[in-house]
Amino acid sequence: MDGKALAKLIQSEIKQRVADHVAAGNPQPKLAAVLVGDDPASKVYVRNKERACERVGIASELHRLSGDIDHDQLLALVNELNRDDDVNGILVQLPLPDQIDEQAILDTIDPLKDVDAFHPENVGLLSQGRPRFLPCTPHGIVQLLDRHDVDCSGKSAVVIGRSDIVGKPIASMLMQKSLPNIKAGNATVTVCHSRTQDLAGVCRQADILIAAIGRANFVTAEMVKPGAVVIDVGINRLDGKLVGDVDFDAVSQVAGMLTPVPGGVGPLTVTMLLENTLMGAKIQNRVAVS
Ligand code: NAD
Repeated sequence: MDGKALAKLIQSEIKQRVADHVAAGNPQPKLAAVLVGDDPASKVYVRNKERACERVGIASELHRLSGDIDHDQLLALVNELNRDDDVNGILVQLPLPDQIDEQAILDTIDPLKDVDAFHPENVGLLSQGRPRFLPCTPHGIVQLLDRHDVDCSGKSAVVIGRSDIVGKPIASMLMQKSLPNIKAGNATVTVCHSRTQDLAGVCRQADILIAAIGRANFVTAEMVKPGAVVIDVGINRLDGKLVGDVDFDAVSQVAGMLTPVPGGVGPLTVTMLLENTLMGAKIQNRVAVS
């Protein structure tokens, strides 16, 4: 599954929708990104997000803060961005330095500008099957499934990893009866984690296997049912190379479909951030969300 090509296609669709939104007399959508400290990976992620905004006609502004700022300074910036009518989406790049209470910062972002969909209100709405924003990485995964015509209904989906960012929300999405504009759903979902017994045996039952662990080449061919759809969310550095959580060469011999790393889920995560920023602009300008 070529995530790069699919991201390009979806970004061209978003570009058109942004142009239509502006042509209808609305202000250009705007994303505000906040980067604290100088973690090299975070810098790359934020730069990619800014470039993607530019490609589709979304304005972006970057707030760079020193790694030694205190919690209240960051909180004050988030509150300022909440009040700024020109800002439609707020993204605080994680991880944050230890002196900052990350959860408190994420809880302070206006839920209507919460383009990462980490705010408890947005998490709750998704869990009830009536989402406002869909979290970016899980949304990217369901786009990969939908646009490759993967039918999830009644299928066994196994998610490895239970993080708030990937594991829990993708499990929630795949088990839903229906979500607006999403075909993937109605799967029988199993969530595995570090305490799961017979992980390989559970994975071998999966028609759809999603690996979000953060360990290089963790999923081997023996863990995959022949013909299964395998989505590799992991981003790991191994001997200076980016690799996923799935042993790509071996698993590609067994799987029916498989996402590469890089060039799989990553480009779609960025793309769904653009989708959410446009959605934020529509919500704030009281335009019907389609
Ligand atoms: P996390 O560290 O928060 O969670 C990892 C999960 O893996 C945990 O729930 C843990 O229980 C589980 N796990 C760890 N060891 C395990 C084991 N031995 N057996 C079974 N389960 C085990 O990570 P995360 O934020 O969910 O990210 C996971 C990976 O996905 C990372 O490599 C991260 O960089 C990557 N990621 C990629 C994107 C993208 O856009 N492609 C987005 C977010 C995260």
